[in-house]
Amino acid sequence: MRTSRFPLATVKETPADAEVISHQLMLRAGLIRKLSSGLYTWMPIGLRVLKKVEAIIREEMNNAGALEILMPTIQPAELWQESGRWQEYGPHLLKMKDRHQRDFCYGPTHEEVVTDLMRQELKSYKQLPITVYQVQAKFRDEVRPRFGIMRAREFLMKDAYSFDLDKQGMQVSYQKMYDAYCAIFTRLGLLFRPVLADTGSIGGSFSHEFQVLADSGEDLIAYSDGSDYTANIELAESLAPGNPPSPSKTPKELIDTPTQQTIVEVTQFLGVKPEQTVKVLIVKGKTTPLVALVLRGDHELNTIKAEKLPEVAIPLQFAEPELILQQLNCSIGFIGPIGLAEQGIPVIADRDAAHLTDFICGANLVGKHFKHVDWTRDCSPPQVIDIRNVKEGDLSPDGKGQLHLRRGIEVGHVFQLGDKYSQAMGATVLNDQGQSISLQMGCYGIGVSRIVAAAIEQHHDEHGILWPATMAPFDLCIVPINLHRSEAVKAATESLYEALQAKGLAVLLDDRQERPGVMFADMDLIGIPYRVVISERGLAEGKFECKNRKTGEVSQLTQEEIFALLQNVEMTTNM
Ligand code: ATP
Ligand code: MG
Repeated sequence: MRTSRFPLATVKETPADAEVISHQLMLRAGLIRKLSSGLYTWMPIGLRVLKKVEAIIREEMNNAGALEILMPTIQPAELWQESGRWQEYGPHLLKMKDRHQRDFCYGPTHEEVVTDLMRQELKSYKQLPITVYQVQAKFRDEVRPRFGIMRAREFLMKDAYSFDLDKQGMQVSYQKMYDAYCAIFTRLGLLFRPVLADTGSIGGSFSHEFQVLADSGEDLIAYSDGSDYTANIELAESLAPGNPPSPSKTPKELIDTPTQQTIVEVTQFLGVKPEQTVKVLIVKGKTTPLVALVLRGDHELNTIKAEKLPEVAIPLQFAEPELILQQLNCSIGFIGPIGLAEQGIPVIADRDAAHLTDFICGANLVGKHFKHVDWTRDCSPPQVIDIRNVKEGDLSPDGKGQLHLRRGIEVGHVFQLGDKYSQAMGATVLNDQGQSISLQMGCYGIGVSRIVAAAIEQHHDEHGILWPATMAPFDLCIVPINLHRSEAVKAATESLYEALQAKGLAVLLDDRQERPGVMFADMDLIGIPYRVVISERGLAEGKFECKNRKTGEVSQLTQEEIFALLQNVEMTTNM
């Protein structure tokens, strides 16, 4: 491709609303342009990258035996009502009406549509197993679209769905997709980890996310230094502490804490550690107006774990200060667990909070706390369950090693759904005994567009993007010096451009009338793995200057040597 054929849309300034480096570089390198919040156009070079990612995903899906289909993006409401998600999915679902006032939505995911398809197509166990996939735009009305195409509203997803007769079959299909995902992310040159994950609004019993490791990632991953345990913090279990310490010998004591409301204020005032205190978070309940969640002072609530409690309203909502004052006659900073159960408020304590025997907590009186509180002696026994986030240094739930935390970008997610959708929507087949059996499903998503941003987060330097070879929009670029003045340069450029393309390589020829410095900077920004400079001086020696974008290494090579250098590049599909 010649740059003269399309305007290179690079810009110097870093756009103000771009917080993360991938968003900045994608805008600066002219890969994407914003239409509206969370909506982006893919420009020619960006689209080449996206298509390469898609091509690798397709190849590996096909290798794993999955069949490509394409379902509509617009889905009828009836299917979502059958599965129960028309309400449950919440405001992420973009709903619309057609001219007959029938309800539709723009698909955020396709479990309902594919289940509807398969309940009509599949009749017998003999047609199983089957896995289908598609690559398609999805729409989710994200609360906070940000980081460019990383968290967009419309984005490109590869979604696959497997159908089996039984659980074991589903697990085999799941493993095939898991392996295909590992192959895809490895080929894309990404540093990633499969991690145990929560199943969220998709549902099912078991799932893994594929996380690209990057400090800018929105997800926190807990991993053990003593085993291969890796889990999203949303799911990572915090182990039950060992034997309880001996009961408190000192009776509980009411103390004045006139202005001390937060854990920091209370611990500083009393000269104790946060580990010796408990805090009570009052949230809205499902069947009672309020629910009390009790955590050790140094621990953080895990909202995903809390939302799984039958007592707690979904989504998790903290009770308004006015409501607490009205119901408990006390302000938030002085709330403690003693006496709450007696007022009809379910008290649910995290394992570590429940393990304390001599702690400090609010006294449910403004300006007062209790010291030396002992659960058994001073409170009604709470319900005890894991509701906190694990933290650095916690024991690994598999009993091997300690946990550490790092950040990741979720690029893929695989789920064992079981019969969640097939039961709700009546998708059955006959087994070899002639009995009707609900299909066992799996579903498997990849954020195709998000991968492009995730790759940039991992691969960039101060000059721009450093594409892994398999994702690069071009294998190399040619920058001729004085193309428009020197006949010799012009002839050599055309000849090399033709010869490289004949070898199947994707070449960007920068034939603009620009200063060399401008062209070099643009090529570095776009991140093409190799740059070949053609100049009269080099030609006099029969050589081209070849620079490796990643290492900066420069060498003077003949045409044959350039061919040899690029021989191992995984070829860009000619587009
Ligand atoms: P997230 O937790 O990031 O919101 P999710 O868990 O809701 O994602 P899934 O339902 O698992 O997403 O969707 C499959 C894949 O689609 C994700 O792993 C992610 O790579 C991608 N994806 C999801 N939401 C977005 C989005 N708003 N923009 C771009 N890609 C997305
Ligand atoms: Mg997910």
